Order: sequence, then structure tokens, then C-alpha cells
Amino acid sequence: MKVNQNFSRLEQSYLFIRINQMVAAYQEKHPDVQLLRMGIGDVTQPLAPAVVEAIHRAAEDMGRAETFHGYGPEQGYPFLREAVAAYYREKGVELSLEEIFISDGAKNDLGNLLDIFSQDNVVAVPNPVYPAYVDTNVMDGRPIRYLEGAMENQFLPGPPDFHADLIYLCSPNNPTGAAYDRQQLAAWVDYALEHDSLLLYDAAYEAFLEGSDLPTSIFQIPGAERCAIEICSLSKSAGFTGVRCGYTVIPKALEREGTSLNALWLRRQSTKHNGVSYLVQRAAQAVFTPEGRAQTRQILDIYRGNARLMADTLRELGIAFWGGVYSPYLWLRCPGFDDSWAYFSYLLENAHIIGTPGAGFGSAGEGFFRLSAFNTPEATRQAMEQLRRLHSNI
Ligand SMILES: *Cc1c(COP(=O)(O)O)cnc(C)c1O
Repeated sequence: MKVNQNFSRLEQSYLFIRINQMVAAYQEKHPDVQLLRMGIGDVTQPLAPAVVEAIHRAAEDMGRAETFHGYGPEQGYPFLREAVAAYYREKGVELSLEEIFISDGAKNDLGNLLDIFSQDNVVAVPNPVYPAYVDTNVMDGRPIRYLEGAMENQFLPGPPDFHADLIYLCSPNNPTGAAYDRQQLAAWVDYALEHDSLLLYDAAYEAFLEGSDLPTSIFQIPGAERCAIEICSLSKSAGFTGVRCGYTVIPKALEREGTSLNALWLRRQSTKHNGVSYLVQRAAQAVFTPEGRAQTRQILDIYRGNARLMADTLRELGIAFWGGVYSPYLWLRCPGFDDSWAYFSYLLENAHIIGTPGAGFGSAGEGFFRLSAFNTPEATRQAMEQLRRLHSNI
């Protein structure tokens, strides 16, 4: 028996494991210090009441013979796919139910989708980026090229001068918080159509774009239905990180080498996936009801308020940053440091704030730092006060 040797090509330690080790070591030496966690991309607010009620009702359904549900459709229950289709209709995007696949999360689908692509595709990944895009392709042995993000392009790389088959885009971006506008996305769609490439569009943070005129779906760009797959999640928009539900859109019009990618994915899912639990899909359906929408919007407003306070603080301190407006993330130039791990330690020891070093998101992240608005307003206020105290002294 032989193991998959590609695993030996992965970066040694996962970013958040290294952070946890450094935090644990600090906390052991300073057990009385209250640390403020502004680093991890997990939500902190509980589920909306409409969602909790839906889970209770679904549990009752499962306990009665007349409403019990066994194996569900691999693609997801029609009641949830209809809710997703209605949500897209509001964005001006018409989808048939066959184009929507309910998933147990975006990360899962981002990895699983690779099953339907050949190993020898050239993959283009933004730098800096959400680490899963790189690692899932390294595990499969696909060649990876980078799309460099920098201050000059506002961390929004455009189409490259080389050929790429699979291209990952994430907008609003994790970690930089930057979001593409219509024109920039149209340039990507043009590139993909011209090169016969496929855009893998991660829209996990699209809900944060509410109130802007930025596109919330790649399918708002004409032609995208022939060159893009969109991967979405209720994790960040409705606090589902522990509930696990998302959806992936694969248009019927999307074909490569005479093969429908929608049909390939359905075949893959029917073979390797038995659907998402009935309870979770009922919970997800509740997110799209008027009540659920109003309640989740209130929760997002808490994070938006935190982001606003963080942005105001950084501006006041003269620290350059991106994101924070239509995104829960703020991406800052490390003040006085070129090494983002050194800044991590400095912030931990002197302001008792845990952030995320930019270098953990790729080489282009060196010198930058991610702060997250996923926290309580109290903790955010406290963290910003400590940041102000620290940096007013520089
Ligand atoms: C959090 C996150 C995900 C993961 O979403 P799940 O649905 O919880 O698996 C996917 N993409 C990005 C960019 C994220 O930040």
C-alpha cells in the first residue's frame, strides 16, 4: 500500500495551529491576562431565533411517522433550493432548481469539486488567499500559479498574462476584505471565455455587500453562466459555521470538452454524498424567510458596527488598511514591522490582541495582518482601546 505522496508537499503547519500554540505558550506564562481574539474567522453571535424554531419543528417532524424523513435527495430538498432560487432572483439571476446543489458547507464543496477536474489543469490562485484553495490542489498534485495581490492593485488581481484552467476568486476576499466591482469581474469572465477556463467563485461573504452596488454573484456578469461555478455558504452570513450548510451553483450552460459540468457534479454527488440532514436544510430554509432575513441582518449589523469601529481606529492611528466596509475583515499594513509574525507577537504581548499574520495566507501577505470583526462589540471596543494605547506611543 502506498500513501498519497502529494501530502508531503503541503506547508508543514496549518496557520491556526501555529497561532494556537503561540497563544497557549503566552497564556501559560501569563495566566491572568485576558486575551482578545480578533483572529479566527468564526462567528460569535448565536443563531437567529427563526432558525432555532425551524430546527425544533424539524425535530418534531422526525419524531412522527407521517412527517419522518429518511434519505433525502442528493442535491437537496426542493423547498430549500426554491428558497435559494428566489434569493438569486432578487439579485437578477434566474436559476433552475437543477442548477442549485445544497452542500454541508463551502469548504467541503471547494475540495470535493476537484473530483470532476483533470489532474493536469493549471490552477491560478490569488496571493494572499484562503489556504484551502492551495492545499486541496496540492493534495491532488495540480500545478499552481499565483495571481499577485498587492497595495498597487488593492489586493484585487486581474487576469494574468499566462494561461490558467481553473481560477479561484473570492469576493469579498478572505483575508483582505477587498471586493471586485462589475468591471473587474467582467474582465475575469472575458478571460475565462477566451481561455476556456473555469472560474471557481467563492461568495462566502456576499451577504456583507448589502447596501453596496458591487456584484454579489458572478452570475450577475453576462457570460458567467458559461465559465463559472459559484460556491456559497450560510456560515458567515447566518452563523452556520457549526450547523453546516451551503449551496453551490453550476449552470446547465456550463460545458467543457462537450461535457456538462452540472451532470458530472450530480453524478459525483449521487455516488459520494447522501445529502445534508433534513434538520439542517429546514434551518437553512428559515434563513431565507422574511423573519429569518430580518434577524440575520441584525446579527450582521453587529459585525458591521465592529468593523466600522476598527476602521475608524486604524484611520485615526494612520495605519493603512483594506476591507472593513463590505467585509468582516480588515487587512492592515503592519505598523513598524515587515515581519507579520513579529507583529503578531508584538500585538499579543503588548496589547493582548490575537490577530492573524498575513504571511499565513501566502507570500504576498507578508508585512500585512488580518483583524476580524467576528466578535462582541464589547471585546471589539476593548481591543481597539488597547490598540490605540499601543500605537499612540510609536
Ligand atoms: C469561512 C470560509 C469558507 C468556509 O465555509 P463553510 O461553509 O463553513 O465550509 C469558505 N470560503 C471562505 C473564503 C471562507 O472564509
